[in-house]
Order: sequence, then structure tokens, then C-alpha cells
Amino acid sequence: MPKAYSYLRFSRPEQAKGDSTRRQYEAAKRYAAENGLDLDDGLTFRDEGISAYQGKHLETGRLGDFLNEVKAGRVEPGSYLLVESLDRISRQSARKAQRILEDICEEGITVVTLIDGRKYDRAALDSDPMALILSLLTFLRAHEESATKAKRLKAAWANKLKNIAEKPFTSKAPHWLKLNKETAKFQVIEDRAARVREMFDLYLSGMGPSGIAKRYNQEGLAPWGRGQMWFESYIIKILANPAVYGVITPHKLEYDKSGKKKRVPLDPITGYYPVVVDEHTFLRAQELKTSKGVKGRRATVPLQNIFSGLGRCPVCDSAMVRVNKGKTFQYLACGAAKHGAKLCSYRSIPYYRLEGSFLEAVRAGLKIPVEQEKLKALEAELARAEANMECAVSQRRNLIEAIKVGALKEESITDTSYPQYVLTDIIEEGPVFREKWGPRTLRDEIEQLDEWVERDRKNIIKLRGQINLLRPAAVEARLKELEAAARAQTLDPQRFNAALQSICKKAVIEYDHSAVDLQFKHTDLVLRVPVTMWSGREGK
Ligand SMILES: [Zn+2]
Repeated sequence: MPKAYSYLRFSRPEQAKGDSTRRQYEAAKRYAAENGLDLDDGLTFRDEGISAYQGKHLETGRLGDFLNEVKAGRVEPGSYLLVESLDRISRQSARKAQRILEDICEEGITVVTLIDGRKYDRAALDSDPMALILSLLTFLRAHEESATKAKRLKAAWANKLKNIAEKPFTSKAPHWLKLNKETAKFQVIEDRAARVREMFDLYLSGMGPSGIAKRYNQEGLAPWGRGQMWFESYIIKILANPAVYGVITPHKLEYDKSGKKKRVPLDPITGYYPVVVDEHTFLRAQELKTSKGVKGRRATVPLQNIFSGLGRCPVCDSAMVRVNKGKTFQYLACGAAKHGAKLCSYRSIPYYRLEGSFLEAVRAGLKIPVEQEKLKALEAELARAEANMECAVSQRRNLIEAIKVGALKEESITDTSYPQYVLTDIIEEGPVFREKWGPRTLRDEIEQLDEWVERDRKNIIKLRGQINLLRPAAVEARLKELEAAARAQTLDPQRFNAALQSICKKAVIEYDHSAVDLQFKHTDLVLRVPVTMWSGREGK
């Protein structure tokens, strides 16, 4: 089995922190599993190499280190290197990264970009010019982004640095970054960045901003700003600050006709700050009511509702539908109320918090009820249907056998063997019905038996299906898939939704109880899953 290496794990061997790193790693694992590769976790860049490669690393990421491992024979030819996308590798020199990529492929390694499943290997780079161009463009874009960022920083700070002697400026850096005044670059304060990631993790797994503030105060974590302690409002500010994923929205001052000063937002600049939380995570957190969201193209994020086709209003049983407010706020609301029906009241439930806490509950394990009684009843019914069918089949066989040997004739009239329901109809409807049916022959009898066999056959299939669904093993298998979908590195809402649909009929969004009531296909028992829908400040 060829080996595969995760670039993420190779370049960041320290315990992966945060959802995004974990998900990226899960994607590598999934790719390896789907493509019959043996994912090797053991190989990381070598510690003694850190200082030696520092210079190189700045230009090429850990790609150069990986190449060295290949050259040293610690990575076998024919192995795979899995990276999320090429721009993760280098933000410095496109030309050099490109060359190292070629060198790695030249050594017989296949590089796979997980984001699009594209493979780069020797043959691809030789024969498919698009592969080369695409990878080059990716590198160039990454390089350009950081070059632009560097240029902007330079221009912006050059002026300020000139004035620094007479007017020391307060660094505009958010609290988890500091400005290195010599290089005019932002540096990450690692322990604080870790806290920022933690805030997002906690928030997305259902803890409200006030809960997070309380937790930090209890823990005795010193507040970052001027305050004496952690406040909910400050947590909200961080959760809503696009600077966590590197974006700044500069403003310029303008004067309107009456001479009033106003701040006009300009286009957001990406890559301005070092990224401490990935964009997806940030956007997921944006249902926060107090946040202003992100302006511009980056703000649109496709939402697929994991409860799609299942979510129900607890009051009127209408489907809960998606409602967008602004560009980053996603809500669920009763479809009837949304369309103005008077029968139901309009309540909007912040979607991402619901999603996050529901996924959390699934990951923690759902106790899906199994009805042993119902299972037994169905099994008894199945046994009866099977016996009936067997009986009809052998009766039919006997009749045909008897006709074949001449003991009976197809046209022979049988009076007594009308099925019970026909007799009932004849009694009720009298002669008219008798005419319709006419005298009953053995041929009719055989046709009747055929019908019964067919009816039993369908019934057996249906019962087997129901029993299969009820059997703990079958339910367990479906639950496993649901959990796997909840644990996936990158949530695939469709996959999760399909898994949920395989076991559930409905998911009632019980907003008054902060719970999702799952109604199953296999049982009438309902499972109440506690979730977080409201932060403290939204009330109910
Ligand atoms: Zn409703």
C-alpha cells in the first residue's frame, strides 16, 4: 500500500488545535482511506532542522523540508503528499515553491490538493500543462496576496514610524497581535491566539459569550484590554472581529455637503493581519446578533441546512426554513410564519449555534431508542406472512400438478373457494356482483393464488425492511454514519442530512425547550436532544 503524508501534520506536528486543523487532518485521513493509501503520522520535519531550514522555510514553507526527507530516503518514491491547497504551502516565493514542488514530483512523489482532489506528479507536470499552470497560478496568488499585504503595511506604517518619536502611537493591533516596530509586521501572541481559537470553539459548540466571559473570570485569566475582568461584550467583539482571519476594513473620512464628517468604509483588505481563525469558522460564528458582519464578497457563505427536509415548527408542524438576515446571519424560522400565515408566530433561531450544538450532541453520542416489543411483533408478523406464502405456493403447485395429470380441469367450476372478501361483497351487493365475478373456475383459483403470493411477497419485503430498521445492529450502523458525518473534518451538510434522514422522519425544533426532538423511522419513541439556540442576550 503506498504511503501518504499529511502536509499539515508534517509541518505542524504539535498537537492539532482547533476545529479547522482537525478537520483538515480528517480530510487527509479520508482521502487516504478512499484511495487505498496508508497515512503515515510519524514523519514530521526534523527538530534539528528547524534552525538550519529557517531561511529556506521562509521561502518555501515546510515543502523544502519534506523534499529533504524524500531525498534522504525517509519517504519512499510512489508516496503521496496531501496538502489542503497549494497556497497553504508558501506565501513567499512562488518561483521557489514551484521548483520544490517539481523536485518533489521528480522524486516520484504525487502531491494531492485535497480541496479539489487534483494530483500533481511527474507525469501530470510533463504531459498536462494545465496542471503546471494551475499550480503556478495558485502559488502566484498566494505570493501576491502577501506581497500586497507587505506593501500596504509598509506604506501604512512608514508614516507612523516617522512620527513615532514625538507621538508614540498606540498600536492598532488587536489584542492577540503585536506590532514589531522594527519590521513593521504583526506578530501573533501565541497564547492569546490560542484563546481566540478557544473562544470560537466554545462559541460554536454552544457556549454563549457571557458563559465564555464567566469561564475566563473564574479561571482568573487576566483581561486583555483596560477592563478589570472579562465582559460578555468584549467576547462578542472578538467573535465578530474579522481581524481574526486577517481582514481589516479601512475607513476614510469624508465630509458631506453640510460639512459633517463621516467615516466611509473602504473595501476590506484580506491578509492584513496574521490569520488566527480560519474564515469558515469565523463566518459560522456570525449569527451573533451584535456583530456587524463582514462587508463585501467574503461575507457570502453558502448555507445548507443540516435539518433540511426534517426540521419542523413545534407549534404548527410546518417546515422550518432558512432565513438570511444580512449576509452572514442565518436563521431558521417557521415556514408558515415566514410567509405571513397567522396561525403561527415568527421566531428566528440562530442557525449556526443550533447546528454547532446539535453536531456536538451527535458527536457525544445519541441514545437512540429501540422498541423491542415492536420488533417482536414485526418478527411474528413476518413469520405469518412467510407461512401464508408457503401455503399458497404449495396449493398452487398441487392444483397445477393435478391439472397436468388430468385429475382436474382448468375450466372446472369451484363454488366454495371464493376468497372471504369476495363472499362478503357478493352477500352485500347481491346478483349484480355475482354476475361480475361469474362462475369461478380452477383457472380463477390459480390466478387468485398468484395474487396472494404476490401480496405476501410484497408484505415480506416490507416487513423485512422494517425489521432491519428496528434491529439494534441496523440502527447502530446508521448512527455510526451520522456520527462520522458529524466528526468529518469539513462538515458536509448534505452527507449529514442524508444520514439524519436515514433514521429520522422529523426533527422538531423545540425553541421553547432549547431542544431538537427527533422522531424516528423505526420507532414512535422521541429522542429529545438538548441544544443551544439562544445566547444570553437574545432572550427567547
Ligand atoms: Zn409554525
